[in-house]
Amino acid sequence: MSLAPAPTQLRMMTDSMLPHTAVVEDIQSEAYGISTFSMVFTDPAQASTYRFLPGQFNMIYLPGFGEVAISISSNPGAPQVVGHTIRYAGSVTRAIGRLKVGDTVGVRGPYGSAWPLEKALGKSLVIVAGGIGLAPLRPALFSILHRREDFGRVVLLYGGRTPADLLYTAEFARWQAGGIELHSTVDLADEKWSGQVGVVPTLFYRIRVDPKQTLVMTCGPEIMMRFVIYEALARRIPKECIFLSMERNMKCAIGFCGHCQFGPTFICKEGPVLNFAAIEPFFGKEDF
Ligand SMILES: Cc1cc2nc3c(=O)[nH]c(=O)nc-3n(C[C@H](O)[C@H](O)[C@H](O)COP(=O)(O)OP(=O)(O)OC[C@H]3O[C@@H](n4cnc5c(N)ncnc54)[C@H](O)[C@@H]3O)c2cc1C
Repeated sequence: MSLAPAPTQLRMMTDSMLPHTAVVEDIQSEAYGISTFSMVFTDPAQASTYRFLPGQFNMIYLPGFGEVAISISSNPGAPQVVGHTIRYAGSVTRAIGRLKVGDTVGVRGPYGSAWPLEKALGKSLVIVAGGIGLAPLRPALFSILHRREDFGRVVLLYGGRTPADLLYTAEFARWQAGGIELHSTVDLADEKWSGQVGVVPTLFYRIRVDPKQTLVMTCGPEIMMRFVIYEALARRIPKECIFLSMERNMKCAIGFCGHCQFGPTFICKEGPVLNFAAIEPFFGKEDF
């Protein structure tokens, strides 16, 4: 038996790995070392057919540097402009950080699973984000605001290291006016901060939840998500109603190379949004 992919498989694989040229239309600084890059595909056919779901990601390619997985942080209702909020972590993301408006990159995607917004219809949502973890949740907020009456109570618990590390603060008032209850916290306050000081999971103490009617969606550092899950379970929210977005170093993004394997799942294919009940045996275990 040959292990080589069949020609049709190979064509599908190469097609979905082909980057499309996109031009950087706008760059917004969000926090120190983090900016949002809004991109538009140069091929009109690609620009008009491109769609994504909240929680999905793209692979962004910079010739001469490499390719990185970046969540889509913009409005799924306006997919002609695709936003990516990027933290300058290493060689590729720092090179992206040197781009100017008008420069081009390669973009392929969207890939991966989405936040379970259909499952959340009619229910309450607790959305918990830490730092740049708000980026993949922002498209979900856009979608919720678009059809706010279809959901019950929507609470956003958000925190960062310092007030200057909080993303999208200019949008907070609009989110609140649209019916999202926002609680924020920082690890380290400055003289202007009058809100809560403490780690993100402690924000659970500020809200009451109906465990039978609530879904939790969380993204942030793994240690934060571990404690978010602990707080959710302590409030008897079923494991099946807890969803998290996982990150692992990835290369192909289509389930071939195995770089992002996590237990029996590939984060790029079954994830990045995963149900806690499905990954509980592996979550929080180093080098599984
Ligand atoms: C599904 C998915 C969505 C992502 N969404 C975003 C996003 O919206 N915004 C954003 O800024 N970043 C996001 N990332 C992380 C981003 O892909 C990495 O920061 C990037 O690959 C680093 O590449 P680099 O060449 O700049 O750094 P490198 O030089 O490769 O690495 C710099 C440091 O970061 C570590 N690192 C590299 N990749 C990861 C990773 N995936 N997770 C944790 N540590 C890593 C390396 O081990 C090293 O210590 C996402 C990753 C995944 C898998």
